[in-house]
Amino acid sequence: MTIDKRPRYPMTCSQCGKAAWATLSVFQEDFGMPDCGHATCPACGTFLHLTFVPEKKAFETESWDDYLKRICDENRDTT
Ligand SMILES: [Zn+2]
Repeated sequence: MTIDKRPRYPMTCSQCGKAAWATLSVFQEDFGMPDCGHATCPACGTFLHLTFVPEKKAFETESWDDYLKRICDENRDTT
């Protein structure tokens, strides 16, 4: 049995406002990619995209659908 010693940081569901805790994913912690986390809200079940904000030591959340729309919009702006 392994104990998860990774630090946990607060997140708030963007859809229902439920506060929860999330650990930095392997990608976020080891590869320095703060914009690639995801989690499922324990309250409303929304699949959330997490962005770790080091200044706040917290995660910002948005629904995965919003995230995909935003990425598409950003790609459209740069081309
Ligand atoms: Zn929720």
